[in-house]
Amino acid sequence: MKIGIIGGGITGLTVALRLSRSGHAVTVYEQDTPGGLASGFSINDKTNTTLERYYHHIFSTDHAFIRLIAENDLEKNLTWHPSKTGICSEG
Ligand SMILES: Cc1cc2nc3c(=O)[nH]c(=O)nc-3n(C[C@H](O)[C@H](O)[C@H](O)COP(=O)(O)OP(=O)(O)OC[C@H]3O[C@@H](n4cnc5c(N)ncnc54)[C@H](O)[C@@H]3O)c2cc1C
Repeated sequence: MKIGIIGGGITGLTVALRLSRSGHAVTVYEQDTPGGLASGFSINDKTNTTLERYYHHIFSTDHAFIRLIAENDLEKNLTWHPSKTGICSEG
């Protein structure tokens, strides 16, 4: 079956991955940048260096996402860091 998916953010791309691995022919239609809110942009075309459009993290409890990373052999790109979030209040 041919399937069209509108939107190439993480949701559309994950659905496309699942369906194509189930044997379906999938086309993703993206109006702007693949990756959507989680996309990056080039800061150096020569070295192929990109920077995130927004900051992003996952938690060690995001098991489904960690499985997705492993399924795609991207574990070597996943690093864990201690959280250093703070709130500035009243100056
Ligand atoms: C500042 C910020 C920080 C965040 N930090 C985190 C984080 O740390 N951890 C985390 O897990 N999540 C974070 N998120 C949330 C995460 O980025 C989003 O939940 C996730 O990327 C959404 O993915 P999506 O595919 O559902 O939607 P989107 O990324 O919005 O993708 C939808 C895509 O569909 C395309 N589209 C829409 N309409 C059409 C059309 N008619 N035709 C073709 N294409 C179309 C859009 O261009 C877009 O690329 C953050 C979000 C923001 C904004």
